[in-house]
Amino acid sequence: MSGTLTEKVLEDHLVEGELEPGEEIGIEIDQVLTQDTTGTMVWLQFEAMEMDEVQTEIAAQYCDHQTYQFDFKNTDDHRFLRSAAGTYGAYFSRPGNGICHNVHKENFAAPGKTLLGSDSHTPTPGGLGQLAIGAGGIDIAVAMGGGAYYVEMPEVVNVRLEGELPEWATAKDVILEMLRRLSVKGGVGKIFEYTGPGVETLSVPERTTITNMGTELGATSSIFPTDERTEEYLAKQGREDEYVELAPDADAEYADEITIDLSEIEPLVACPSMPDNVVPVREVAGEKVDQVILGSCTNGGYEDILPAAKMLEGREVNKKTDLIVAPGSKQASEMLARDGWTAEMMAAGVNFSEATCGACIGNGHVPASDSVSVRTFNRNFEGRSGIEDDAVYLSSPEVAAAAALKGELVDPRDLAEELGDMEAPGFELPDVYDGSKADLITPDEAVDDELVKGPNIGDVPLKGALDDEVGGETLLKMRDNITTDHIIPATSDILMYRSNVPKLSEYTLSRVDETFPERALEADGGVLVAGENYGQGSSREHAAMCPMYLGIEAVFAQSFARIHKANLFNFGIVPLTIDQETYDKIEQGDDIHIVDDIGEGVRNGEEEFTISVNGEWEATAHLDASQRERDILAAGGKLSWTKEQSLGD
Ligand code: SF4
Repeated sequence: MSGTLTEKVLEDHLVEGELEPGEEIGIEIDQVLTQDTTGTMVWLQFEAMEMDEVQTEIAAQYCDHQTYQFDFKNTDDHRFLRSAAGTYGAYFSRPGNGICHNVHKENFAAPGKTLLGSDSHTPTPGGLGQLAIGAGGIDIAVAMGGGAYYVEMPEVVNVRLEGELPEWATAKDVILEMLRRLSVKGGVGKIFEYTGPGVETLSVPERTTITNMGTELGATSSIFPTDERTEEYLAKQGREDEYVELAPDADAEYADEITIDLSEIEPLVACPSMPDNVVPVREVAGEKVDQVILGSCTNGGYEDILPAAKMLEGREVNKKTDLIVAPGSKQASEMLARDGWTAEMMAAGVNFSEATCGACIGNGHVPASDSVSVRTFNRNFEGRSGIEDDAVYLSSPEVAAAAALKGELVDPRDLAEELGDMEAPGFELPDVYDGSKADLITPDEAVDDELVKGPNIGDVPLKGALDDEVGGETLLKMRDNITTDHIIPATSDILMYRSNVPKLSEYTLSRVDETFPERALEADGGVLVAGENYGQGSSREHAAMCPMYLGIEAVFAQSFARIHKANLFNFGIVPLTIDQETYDKIEQGDDIHIVDDIGEGVRNGEEEFTISVNGEWEATAHLDASQRERDILAAGGKLSWTKEQSLGD
């Protein structure tokens, strides 16, 4: 059969369904990854399902989000994660070893394989031809136990790249251009497949910058074909035997096509506080910059930091600007140090940080109040940096380094002209990637064979089967684009309770309304109302688990982000869509009840439910769910449902 690259990889892994857009398909998972903020619940759920050992080819547990060990809580979690990896047969990556996506790319990402990860930027290795999808923690636990992963078959969109990037334009600008054109909702229900003559002009790390940030488009995944550049990258990582040639058929049919002429790309920035608020840097030039951070899973590689290091060599960071460099992995840190670039950057005034997510989720390097921060990260949602009134710009390393030198936003082409002696650094791969592997513990090297749980490790909350009556007070009415950072913030003071759901729940939606958690507990049940794209952002299942713990029975939204909607099913909360008129009419405090017998309706495939508001007026709410999702909802969530199933049969 002729087809797209996506269809070919899916066909190879299909265990249920047909590759028709919108149809639910079940696929076999080859590799899983999890990180420290989502991982404790993954392993607690794996334990609750009474699994003996990991069934996938690779399972990897990373410690990257919360690596600063302020008190016993993060350390407890890291010790628990190491013990779980050892007990069940997963790789364990210690704190300081780097960000999950970077370390996974270096060590395990392989063309043609499927990867499921409990982190929304899991699609990163799509740049190597791997089909990688982000999901909630319980989906990871089930896949690790040998169960299939179920997802709605996305539309496959062809992004045709033509031409070649000019000097100072980068892969980051390519994905920012995609966001400028399509918005943060433009990829919902889609996989972006990159094709065309421009592909071969991009190296694997440039491709993974693009696939990484496909997540900001709301896409299920993004993927590149493989070629000599893929083979070259794998060989430099010492994994050339994992190369597989992959390409779409010449007559592959796509749902849509977008063309990007790389030669027309220029330096761009995403302005505060949404990744699609993109303009050319020249439009905002002159904005004073207080802080610059280089790093993250988007631009934290050795090759990403090298151009900035070259721009900084022999120069000084502006005295009014702090420049922090946090490489994405220990491999990148070690190589920068061995090649002398760390010393050059430090001489220029760089504050060098450990390899961690850190500042990306507000853990460390929080900007000063009423200040501007320029970051090479992928997200700039308001408050994500750790302070409410933040102003975070997203850019390439080149634009970030230029801002650090000038003390204000400046197009690097203009800075080069002003300085007269600054060359475009270009993008080059090292001869070989040679960081030490000491911080990756293989299953054979495991140092634990039983789970070690400190006092910060609680139990997995469970919900009973779905009631026939669902409804209650509208405890919160929210606007469009509410993120999982709004629902459960990832700052260290809050997310250190990630393994203690009763405590973590006290912070639920407190960034939207600080009275919410207490009101929800007092009400002992209720519903939420939201606008478009509810739950965009991370894969954090706590954003469904904590509302469930507080008694939220249903969310009425105009639309949902993909992973969060799956998480709502997984934790027994009914996700219903409403139209604009109904949304406008509902007020916070209104009593919303589903008139029909929802338990029966969910089981029987009903798609429309009548809702009664204050007993005064009625409207229709829609449930868009597969039969499997309906069964999960009826059982009270995926853990209860999975316990009823016999996995791996
Ligand atoms: Fe870490 Fe930020 Fe990447 Fe998430 S987006 S994995 S927090 S660096």
